[in-house]
Amino acid sequence: MTQTRKRFIAGAECPACHAQDTLMLTVTGEQEQVHCVQCGHQFSERGTQPAAPPTTTTTEQPGLIGIFKPD
Ligand SMILES: [Zn+2]
Repeated sequence: MTQTRKRFIAGAECPACHAQDTLMLTVTGEQEQVHCVQCGHQFSERGTQPAAPPTTTTTEQPGLIGIFKPD
């Protein structure tokens, strides 16, 4: 029995039309198909990383902005 599940990939960008939040992931059994509801682009993607968080760089740049106080 194959069950089809659909869900939107939040924050994902369509490689074709570059619209965001328009990609719908359709999972049928072990097959994953990504479908853009904006332009209809379809592609299968293995190891889909939905809303891939940016590399956790918590290093803050030292504040080098000089504050000038005019007399
Ligand atoms: Zn698209």
